[in-house]
Amino acid sequence: MKEKFLKNIFFLIAVTFVIAFLVFLFKLFNIWNFLLEIENKTFDFRQQIISQYKKSDKDIVILAVDDSSYEYIVSTYGAWPAPRDFWAHISNGIEQAKPRAIVYDLLFVQNFKVFGNSDKKLTDTVNNNDNIYVSMTFDSRPKEVRKPIELPKSLETNINGNFEFLKKAPLVNKTNVMGILPDLLNGTDNIGFINVARDKDGILRTSIPLFVYKDKFYKHLDFLLALDILGLDSKNLTIDKNRAIKLADGRKIPLNEDGRCYLNWYGEQESFKYIPLWEADKAIKENNINYLNSTFNNKIIFVGVTTTSLNDIKSTPTSRMFAGVETHATFLNNIFDNNLIKKTSNLFDIIATIILTLLTAFIVVKSKNVPYAILGVIALIIIYSILTILIMHFLNLWVGLVLPLVCSIGTVTGCYAIKYIVTSRDYEHTYKLAVTDGLTDMYNHRYFQEQMKLNIDNAKRYNTPFSLIMVDIDFFKKFNDKYGHQSGDAVLRQVAQTIKKNIRSTDIPCRYGGEEMSVILSNTKKEEAYIVAQKICEAVRNKEFELATGDWTHVTISLGVASAPFDSDSVQGLIEYADKCLYIAKENGRNQVVSKIENN
Ligand code: GH3
Ligand code: MG
Ligand code: MG
Repeated sequence: MKEKFLKNIFFLIAVTFVIAFLVFLFKLFNIWNFLLEIENKTFDFRQQIISQYKKSDKDIVILAVDDSSYEYIVSTYGAWPAPRDFWAHISNGIEQAKPRAIVYDLLFVQNFKVFGNSDKKLTDTVNNNDNIYVSMTFDSRPKEVRKPIELPKSLETNINGNFEFLKKAPLVNKTNVMGILPDLLNGTDNIGFINVARDKDGILRTSIPLFVYKDKFYKHLDFLLALDILGLDSKNLTIDKNRAIKLADGRKIPLNEDGRCYLNWYGEQESFKYIPLWEADKAIKENNINYLNSTFNNKIIFVGVTTTSLNDIKSTPTSRMFAGVETHATFLNNIFDNNLIKKTSNLFDIIATIILTLLTAFIVVKSKNVPYAILGVIALIIIYSILTILIMHFLNLWVGLVLPLVCSIGTVTGCYAIKYIVTSRDYEHTYKLAVTDGLTDMYNHRYFQEQMKLNIDNAKRYNTPFSLIMVDIDFFKKFNDKYGHQSGDAVLRQVAQTIKKNIRSTDIPCRYGGEEMSVILSNTKKEEAYIVAQKICEAVRNKEFELATGDWTHVTISLGVASAPFDSDSVQGLIEYADKCLYIAKENGRNQVVSKIENN
């Protein structure tokens, strides 16, 4: 009982060491990061499925500088980027249809090609319409390249609550900014930032609602737009202790520890309504008010490039060719739908992993055989995966998938490995018990008979010799009478040990019965067996044996040797021959080896 307990403890310690070693290997070879990257892929997979069932907001449209429009602009206005008064003309044309917002995902930076007073026409138009929004980008260029400018106070946002993590997050902290036309910068408050944050694999899964620049907070363009359209205060915001930006109407924007939020995609590219820019330009020129009204009235219009040659193309979970402007539409739509994805905490994922691992272990233990267990675990994994898809769809939660699955699969493998080791250990133990003699720890009579038969068969088939030594302790009855049975047993054990010490590992020592022992020597001729028998006889003769009382004494043994195939080629015959030799040894005065029966 105690031994079993100790064995189990040892086993637990071994398992712990193996796990610790695996964790060490994981860290060493960056397998954690590898697993995280696969987790990202499972996010993409889930998004590809659930995005098919989501509808984007019909009021968000994209005025696309697509391939045709690009060509149209170049041929009509002579250049790309078009002179800025072109955008004034587009804005003013669309304004006639009373849109909710016109949002430029184009950078009206300084020091670009200047076409007369065309820049002024644009700045006047933007500054005079409070539903036109323009973008800027932060970066971290060195001061020597560009002196970091002061941003107008009106663009700052006051953050309450838990904002310290943002100040420590490198991704949202920027040290420089790409300035836009000064008249725009100082003329309108409708300026937002449009930096993106791709993951290591180049896929854009996130957006950044808030940036830190010169210790002040600034909003993403879409975030600013959403707050304005929802009629919420954009100058004062609160972040709760779970790192979510809490809006006044109860909406939440959950942030990662690095300040990003996960977008919830509405499908592949062109999931929003696309209107080619050339079509709008034509309608404006033709003063087609009907077209303008039906297309733009009350709409939120994102203006941006969608043609691949102008490079604002991203890879997203649902598409490799996703126009940058559409990611903005997605972020805005997500804030409207209040369905930005929140990643569950590490603790949550660990608990999910433990539950799945326990369920896996339960299935393995309860299953009758391996195929059933594997089917059961596959079913469990499928159910869990489907569950994570449903949870993402209905609760906007990203529940960890890779770690639970890896642990579940690891558990199946581990369980079977352990089961195999335990059964084979049990089997070995039972087998050893079945063939061993308890007192002497030699093989028992049954095993002796088996091995004799095996050796006889081999000797016959391959014509190889083998020998048998029979051992009998001299005057053992008297010994027992004199010292008692306990001392007899002690001596019997020690004689057995002495025999074992004087034979090779391939020889088989057995307790034949009572105080008689035998040794089967495979592939051994009589002469060699005789030498071994002599050695044993001498070793016993020279050894002092300890009695149960603690006293010491000497005993002697007599030995008979027989060899197959010369003396006999049957089990019985060989034992009889060895027995006869043993008898002769006794007759001749004991304490000796006899290997031949002299004829008469
Ligand atoms: P000898 O062989 O020299 O002719 O004399 P012996 O007295 O040894 O005669 P025999 O081999 O016939 O004796 C068998 C005795 O061995 C009987 C029994 O007292 C003793 N014996 C047999 N098995 C055991 C055992 O397991 N433990 C003890 N203590 N004695 C045993
Ligand atoms: Mg005997
Ligand atoms: Mg005897």
